[in-house]
Amino acid sequence: LSYIVNRRDLDFLMWEMLDFQELLSQPRYLSYDRATVTAVLDAAQAIAEEKFLPCAAMLDANEPVMRDGKVAMPKEVGDALTAYADAGLFGAAFDEALGGSQMPHLVNLAVNGMFTCANLGIANYAFLTIANANMLNDFGSDEQKRLYLPPMLEGRWFGTMCLSEPEAGSSLSDIRTRAEPLGDGHYRLVGSKMWISGGDQEISENIVHMVLAKIPGGPAGVKGISLFLVPKYRVNDDGSIGAWNNVALAGLNHKMGHRGTTNCLLNLGEGGDCLGTLVGEPHAGLKHMFHMMNEARLLVGHGSVMSGQAGFLYSLDYARSRVQGRQPGNKDPLSPQVPIIEHADIKRMLMAQKVAVEGGLALCAYCALLVDIETTAANPDEREKAHLLLELLTPIAKSWPSEHCLEANKLAIQVLGGYGYSREYPVERFYRDNRLNHIHEGTFAVHGLDLLGRKVGMQGGEALAELVSRIEQTLKSAHAHGGFDFETAALRVALDAVLDATRTALECPRPDLALANATLYLDAFGQTVIAWIWLWQALVADAAPNSHADAFYAGKLAACRYFFRYELPHVHAQLSVVRSLDETCLALRAEQFLGF
Ligand SMILES: Cc1cc2nc3c(=O)[nH]c(=O)nc-3n(C[C@H](O)[C@H](O)[C@H](O)COP(=O)(O)OP(=O)(O)OC[C@H]3O[C@@H](n4cnc5c(N)ncnc54)[C@H](O)[C@@H]3O)c2cc1C
Repeated sequence: LSYIVNRRDLDFLMWEMLDFQELLSQPRYLSYDRATVTAVLDAAQAIAEEKFLPCAAMLDANEPVMRDGKVAMPKEVGDALTAYADAGLFGAAFDEALGGSQMPHLVNLAVNGMFTCANLGIANYAFLTIANANMLNDFGSDEQKRLYLPPMLEGRWFGTMCLSEPEAGSSLSDIRTRAEPLGDGHYRLVGSKMWISGGDQEISENIVHMVLAKIPGGPAGVKGISLFLVPKYRVNDDGSIGAWNNVALAGLNHKMGHRGTTNCLLNLGEGGDCLGTLVGEPHAGLKHMFHMMNEARLLVGHGSVMSGQAGFLYSLDYARSRVQGRQPGNKDPLSPQVPIIEHADIKRMLMAQKVAVEGGLALCAYCALLVDIETTAANPDEREKAHLLLELLTPIAKSWPSEHCLEANKLAIQVLGGYGYSREYPVERFYRDNRLNHIHEGTFAVHGLDLLGRKVGMQGGEALAELVSRIEQTLKSAHAHGGFDFETAALRVALDAVLDATRTALECPRPDLALANATLYLDAFGQTVIAWIWLWQALVADAAPNSHADAFYAGKLAACRYFFRYELPHVHAQLSVVRSLDETCLALRAEQFLGF
């Protein structure tokens, strides 16, 4: 049993459910077929298991520290990232013309999932660099790309995203970092950036920060935010590294999880000039950043699935070998004890983890396929539909796993009992790591506001209509297939309840009231989407030869059954609060919590 990947499930998603073969006929992906994809996954799995997995617990226990103003961390971090770079994985999804290998997003997701599951504290440095390079590739000038992209895609320079500040997290319109134009194409940056992952380290030769800042005299609020490229060391015209750029490490934040990734307070321009260049248009920084953030948010959701998967695989393995107790009804104290996996409640906790992890993975894989379609489909209508669906599904793909795969991690601890609570076993680490996903890249609440306040109503509700039409297609297939009457009826009722709640909120003239229960809406919407995903998986499994005897397919069918009976019914309690525009929380006065 691999602790970092379920290859059988990946095969199912790619080749049986999502019809990935079809995508590989696109000209961009002609050098890929099932055999090459398998070989890529094999190679990535070997590196992740050899270089990332073995040092995960050690790195968690020995987080980076600051010594003489510099970051010190275990050598294994650099070694693992060198292996990742040597395999060409920094540039894997980029164009061949840039030195990449045009890897389809879905394969890239599967590859990076193994590194996340093995050791996300290290993998984060690579993922931030790739996201940063993506943004540079889309919005950077030719000169910026010439100087910065090659060393980033080779894995020699790393990247970061600098949005947050000590006083501005969710409310980015209130950032204070300033960028004054110097008239020679450079800007002088002054300000503090908080929580910056990978913000400083000594592994890479240089660090490329993507920084949000305001140009004095620009519009107020989000419309006045611009994006700047700010290197740790200035870069000479020939690409060589120059002087330090006054990006000062003011301190490291010590976190409950993701402990291998440095998290920094950075002061820009404190003791001398910190120079940056504008990326894209002035005052369009947040728009450019959001372009990248959609992708980053999918990665966060997928990261959450991977932490959930790590706990699921570990606790499953444990439950098969740990013996404890006997079945109810067996009164013979001399009879052998049973493996705990034989207890119904342990099976329930393992199944709850399976539906969260495999449901979340299928949703993320579907979104990655939509990214592939959006970028490669010949038909513009197909590209537009993929784009709309991605816009709508992004807050869900980010948030649903961060809630439900975190819950899966809680159950993994429970399966191990007292051992699960001990630091000798990795399941408590997976929980701590996963807890971040609820918070960064927009908190759970922020995504609820995004979904209900923006996404479901955008373009006259076109994205929502497209999603509903795809769910209707699955319902139709289920009717034609037969045998899923309970599930089709339950999904239809849940979908109608979501649409009803959506209408009520959109028609409410008071935005504060309409959005007061947006977080519950987000969760219920997500549960309904995952119910659709599970019905879809079950239909594919049921159509496979020998599906009821084959344990893999029978497991998919049981998981669908479980999800519809144990999980989906919760949406009705949540949606009744949303639909009735309940004011209980909105109307609370701050002093009511304690009486003063
Ligand atoms: C480990 C870690 C790594 C990070 N990495 C990075 C990084 O690399 N780059 C970067 O720029 N940032 C990073 N962040 C910052 C992260 O994105 C912010 O922490 C997050 O956006 C929340 O901001 P905040 O911490 O200031 O909380 P606040 O914005 O103060 O939020 C506090 C609470 O209030 C709620 N809230 C706020 N506004 C509203 C509202 N309008 N309606 C309802 N509820 C609201 C939030 O949901 C939250 O529950 C990281 C954070 C952590 C912890």
